[in-house]
Amino acid sequence: MNYWLSTRTKRRTFLVGAGALAGLAIASQARPVVAQSRFSAYPFSLGVASGDPLPDGVVLWTRLAPDPLNGGGMPSVNVPIQWQVATDENMRQVVLRGTAIATPEFAHSVRVVVSGLQPGRWYWYQFKVANEFSPIGRTRTAPALGSPVDQLNFAFASCQDWQNGFFPAFRRMAEEDLDFVVHLGDYIYEYGPDPNGPRQHNGPEIVSLTDYRNRHALYKTDPSLQAVHAAFPWIVTWDDHEVENNYADEIPEENQSRQAFIQRRVAAYQAYYEHMPLRSFARPVGPDMQLYRRFSFGNLAEINVLDTRQYRTDQPCGDGLAPRCPEASNPAATMTGTEQERWLFDGLSQSGSRWNVIAQQTMLAQYNFDPRPGSSGAFNLDQWDGYVAARDRLFNFLQQRKPANPVVITGDIHSSWVHDLKADFNNPNSATIGTEFVGTSISSDFPAQFIAPVAAALPGNPHTKFFDGAFRGYVRCNLNGDRWQSDYRVVSTILEPDAPISTLASFVVENGQPGAQRA
Ligand code: FE
Ligand code: CA
Repeated sequence: MNYWLSTRTKRRTFLVGAGALAGLAIASQARPVVAQSRFSAYPFSLGVASGDPLPDGVVLWTRLAPDPLNGGGMPSVNVPIQWQVATDENMRQVVLRGTAIATPEFAHSVRVVVSGLQPGRWYWYQFKVANEFSPIGRTRTAPALGSPVDQLNFAFASCQDWQNGFFPAFRRMAEEDLDFVVHLGDYIYEYGPDPNGPRQHNGPEIVSLTDYRNRHALYKTDPSLQAVHAAFPWIVTWDDHEVENNYADEIPEENQSRQAFIQRRVAAYQAYYEHMPLRSFARPVGPDMQLYRRFSFGNLAEINVLDTRQYRTDQPCGDGLAPRCPEASNPAATMTGTEQERWLFDGLSQSGSRWNVIAQQTMLAQYNFDPRPGSSGAFNLDQWDGYVAARDRLFNFLQQRKPANPVVITGDIHSSWVHDLKADFNNPNSATIGTEFVGTSISSDFPAQFIAPVAAALPGNPHTKFFDGAFRGYVRCNLNGDRWQSDYRVVSTILEPDAPISTLASFVVENGQPGAQRA
């Protein structure tokens, strides 16, 4: 019997003992813990989430926010929240339970780092505060390290500009049969309101911690987004718009001093940490946050999650669409920073997985948007095309060490692409050393007038097997020991929250044969 549901009607007070207080966040030890008994409105307005699946546990997340768009609406006190993990969807077979403390320092968000679970199985979880119950979420642990795994199913997504449309893609993703979801960034956008969109941002361009919290809260009020969080564990990384368009390390896009921008980055990183089901090592320290990390799924797949914003050097040739400048070949220009690059190469060297996934933000493959003879070309210089020496280092590594089946998954560009990764992109006869799947946006715009010119450049980029700019959606991946299949799932419109989904195209990679073929 569900302990909580059976006691729901009784009046309850929560007495929190010293044991619960021991887990309190460092900054708030002196603050009294208050057993809140009433809220101005339902406190679980932002739903629940889970993430960072390991074989023995996951991270559970929620945030108390009875007034989500106005700072949360919680008094400045610590509040105990009870949580439970069960092996059934009705929360009858509870296997773990405990109390966490929601503190004002973290906007009354809660992360419960659960361990002691069984590998490769589903669990359900729920939070309770006073007489209020959260929705029940479902999550799944990763298979045991190195164990044989028949197949994996996951989806990856990116770029969900609230103002450009609804999230029918998330609504449909929640109905898929997946083990987990990977989000590749632009989870929020920082812009002020656009009166022409089907729905508007809450207030002007965001700068302060309160601004970023209210913006994350706005996005998390979306029922389709909540449904996907409640259905699967997520593995998240960010791109630029979680802070500011096209920023690089401590360098803003425009109109801000470096000092003011660092303060803005502190606020943005803090709010991101508060709203994502990340492990505690990601807790920001000043303007720094540890986000790159690695996940293993038995012997079948290893996912290297990159952060290509925090440690970047400034775009060597600017961040537009233009010919390359000589600085793109400067070996000091980096997307990942030296330390993360070494970590990536070390991990790929040691991996025994069948598929080695690099989950990252901007397009890795070269794409010349102006391949006409005599032209000096046009490249997207915020992507790896602006950091050629860094890409060459990665490709040289892949050619020398040959980790099994490298597959890169990418967001950022609001359109669908499939690329063969070439030892030399300018020589179609050079070796194919990996495969890149670029997913379209959940809702962010790809201007219609760009579609024809991009398509016209395809013959000049023979390593690019597929491009579509018309549709929004996500990519669903099914992998087993023999092959990887990517299905480009797209919705008919983003002007209706419940638009239907269909598969626009499917591509496969055979084990041991880098490069994609149409299914
Ligand atoms: Fe985007
Ligand atoms: Ca982006």
